[in-house]
Amino acid sequence: MKRENTKSSLLSRWKSKQKGHGRINSIEKAPEGALIPLSGGQQRLWFLQQLYQENPLYNYSECLKFRGELNVDVLEQSLNFIVSENEVLRSFYKLDNERLVQKVSSTDKIDFVKFDLSELDHEEKDTRKNSILFLEARKCFDLSKPPLIRTLLLKLSGSEHILFITMHHIIFDKWSMDILLNQLSSNYTKLLSGVSIAVDHNKLQFADYAYWQQNRIIDSEQLNYWKKKLGGDTPFLELPTDYPPPKFRLFKGAEHTRHLPKKLSEKVLNLVRELETTPYVLLLSTYYLFLFKYSGQKDLLIGSPISSRDQKVLEDIMGFFDDTIVLRANITPSVSFSTLVKEINSIVLEAFSNKDVSFDNLVKNIRLERSLGNNPFFRTMFIYHAVKSDQSFGSNLHLEHSFYNAGVSKFDLTLFVANSNGHLSTSFEYATDIFSETTIIRFQDHLEVLLEEIVASPSKSLSEIEMLTLDDKQFFFPMPTQQKKLFGGFEGIHQIIEAAAMKHPTATAVTFGNKSITYEVLMRRADVLAHTILESTKGSNEIVGLCTERSISMIVGLVAILKAGCAYLPLDPEYPLQRIAFMLKDSNASIVLTQKSLRSNFGDFKEKVLLIDDVNNDTIETLNNFSCVSSDAMAYVIYTSGSTGKPKGVPISHRNIINSTEGRLSFYPDSPKTFLLMSSIAFDSSKAGIFWTLCTGGNLVVTEKHIEQDLTNLTTVISKNLVTHTLMLPSLYKLILEHCSLPYLKSLTTVVVAGEACPSVLCNTHFNKLPNTALYNEYGPTEGTVWCIAKKIEEKDGLGTVPIGKPVANTEVYLLDDSKKMVPFGAIGEIYIGGISLSNGYLNRPELTNSFYISNPFSKNPTAKLYRTGDWGRYDLNGNIIFLGRGDQQVKIRGHRIEMDEIEKKINESGMVDNAFVVMEKIQKVPALNLEDNDIAENINHYLNDSEIAHLLNELESLNSEEKDYLLTQISSLD
Ligand code: AMP
Ligand code: MG
Repeated sequence: MKRENTKSSLLSRWKSKQKGHGRINSIEKAPEGALIPLSGGQQRLWFLQQLYQENPLYNYSECLKFRGELNVDVLEQSLNFIVSENEVLRSFYKLDNERLVQKVSSTDKIDFVKFDLSELDHEEKDTRKNSILFLEARKCFDLSKPPLIRTLLLKLSGSEHILFITMHHIIFDKWSMDILLNQLSSNYTKLLSGVSIAVDHNKLQFADYAYWQQNRIIDSEQLNYWKKKLGGDTPFLELPTDYPPPKFRLFKGAEHTRHLPKKLSEKVLNLVRELETTPYVLLLSTYYLFLFKYSGQKDLLIGSPISSRDQKVLEDIMGFFDDTIVLRANITPSVSFSTLVKEINSIVLEAFSNKDVSFDNLVKNIRLERSLGNNPFFRTMFIYHAVKSDQSFGSNLHLEHSFYNAGVSKFDLTLFVANSNGHLSTSFEYATDIFSETTIIRFQDHLEVLLEEIVASPSKSLSEIEMLTLDDKQFFFPMPTQQKKLFGGFEGIHQIIEAAAMKHPTATAVTFGNKSITYEVLMRRADVLAHTILESTKGSNEIVGLCTERSISMIVGLVAILKAGCAYLPLDPEYPLQRIAFMLKDSNASIVLTQKSLRSNFGDFKEKVLLIDDVNNDTIETLNNFSCVSSDAMAYVIYTSGSTGKPKGVPISHRNIINSTEGRLSFYPDSPKTFLLMSSIAFDSSKAGIFWTLCTGGNLVVTEKHIEQDLTNLTTVISKNLVTHTLMLPSLYKLILEHCSLPYLKSLTTVVVAGEACPSVLCNTHFNKLPNTALYNEYGPTEGTVWCIAKKIEEKDGLGTVPIGKPVANTEVYLLDDSKKMVPFGAIGEIYIGGISLSNGYLNRPELTNSFYISNPFSKNPTAKLYRTGDWGRYDLNGNIIFLGRGDQQVKIRGHRIEMDEIEKKINESGMVDNAFVVMEKIQKVPALNLEDNDIAENINHYLNDSEIAHLLNELESLNSEEKDYLLTQISSLD
């Protein structure tokens, strides 16, 4: 991007353009009798007002508070002069022979409604005042009926009055307010002192500007500039919202203002001078940094108002001159804040020098994919305003005025920075449908911290600049609390199972179909098998492949391998033989434990193959005659898909799985009496059920393979065994709830969904159908041993995104940005995990391990690691983590963790294609519009966004036939 050196040339280009305008194209009075069109900006407002007829979104109110001796008659006369002289205040907007035009009413007396509240007591006065102002500010205008300005005068006491002015934005902008106040103070002081004033009827009016603007030719070079800048995909800003967006935008809003400390304001303005920039650019740069820190996105678009009053003659004309400019910046985290300011400076200059293309034209000319309810280019606006000093009304009367927000927000979020005599204040106008006030207050806190950091060291790189408040630090680094050591003293996970077996020898341990075995039998059979394994391994911690059909033997084999001091490598017999062979080779497995019917799968396996069926379960004399394992020893290995094209093995130690299982005893109120194990033992989610149940003396019910395809059978298994606990993918649980007979499920006390995001509809279905069963959401990658974040789902979670919850099982969780710096509370970051459940790295893949397991920057222990999950998340208001999806190509398909790169590499290796690109497509139902609606939508969809279109289609019904015809002809002629 051209940056530094473009500054002067851009400036001069812009300036000469302005001069050019003045000569060739200067604005003059529109010809007598000409039909006056609406300016571009006015047209858009008119369209939007037809859509949101009952919405005061485009009302503009200002509250003028007078203290002192007010002469009400003189004030009224002063206002009437203003209305006479500025035609736009008398304008209205109508169809004339199928053309939308602006007209001027001849009535130049303003309705001056007066309320006397001076007799009321303090509290009542306040209530009455607030309700009058609120109702007045929200009362909608009919654009075809003048006047589009209303005034109220509230007498609060003999020396206190409020003049409340409400207008439709189509006739006014913020700049006009300054003109109005100047005229008001001048008229008032003149009239009061007996000086007469005359109305100038030859003055240039807004209508002359609109006429000129609509007859002007758009500079195609400028349009090309914007096509380049904004054409193609523009990113959607990921703001950390509190509530899901409503189907239709209602533009409900609120405002929150903070006055920055005087010292900080001074330092900020000093920095402006030091960096030879403007407050606008410096504060806008700060806002870019703020959004970057919150969203983690580097390509950011911000809207900013720009006035089209770029000619001297327009400076004194009231009217709606506001346009919106789209500022698109690319953040480089390694540059300093001072450099960012320079970059933003160039971006602003470049945008301003191409500003003649109005926002409406941008929307019309640059087709965009727009999702429901979003502004076509940006979600957030930035506005800087240098507050002018208050106008004088003589020595006995003082005026203070402020903008009045009537509970609306045009955008999702707008940051206003006001500079009042060197004192800065920040206001957020925000959509209350999606943001809570708490979040906005936190935005204010973070913005303030950011400014403090920036003024302290503007040369720090953007990634080094911190935005953490004290509250954040306390939340992220709480006093450590260790979970209860319920499995203290055990080195091996199987020893805990042995202890449970000693305690409940006759209890059922494992069930499959109609068969069950007790703990005593489980131990005995596992011991025999373990001895057989030991004959080959001689007590070393080797990896033993475990490949059996789902059965009781599968669990016996698994326990036996652990008892022999080995680690089991689960091999699902359904996996392709090639993949099984790869895992055995890659892990260096020395033995495969399988069964006769699967023996042929291992014909090429050079090492030992043991058959479970061959073991004589009766020939054992000594039980528990095994040497101890160390808790660092490997307990099992799970293979997951690898982006390098090869699956990677994750070795889990006894310490990892003991800690992970122990965590369940603290988190869940009950351990499973009967657990339904549906997942393959090749998935790490299976460990939850296997070890939680066997370590606590419950019955592990192993289902037949593919039971999810036979829901009747599944429900029979649940009801017959009185299953209390189970864990499955949310998608499977949804099927069960939708298709199974509920009385069969009533033994369930605890359902855990894991492995994929839990949709909120599932939550609602669950609470409708099984209100007495507790539902939990567990999150965790294999590398962190089954789970590391979890939450008991509550009914209210069904209202928005279901959180994954808080850290469990001694896990440390951090949300970090690309530079591995902690993001502030509420901001989006990548989930990093650490703690006792974290595995050591990948089997025989030091490079891969180094790139995913980083040194823990927050630990005093130099060897402590954090695992980078690739998942994105943020904290919600209650301190629960929300899962936001992945930042890479990994997907989950029916619980399988799949790296698209692995598939691509495999296809490429085949040599049959030049280049492969794999995408996952989710089939979604698209709501269909009927043909006629579609045609309309097709025509207007580059002018209005989808929700506006939907509203328009609705609203068409309520328009009269003239308006309807007009709207439709306008729509079909739009391009
Ligand atoms: P796995 O290693 O097979 O357990 O897969 C771990 C990945 O599954 C995580 O990194 C997430 O992307 C996803 N995942 C697991 N549990 C959840 C959950 N509760 N909500 C959303 N995603 C999840
Ligand atoms: Mg998992």
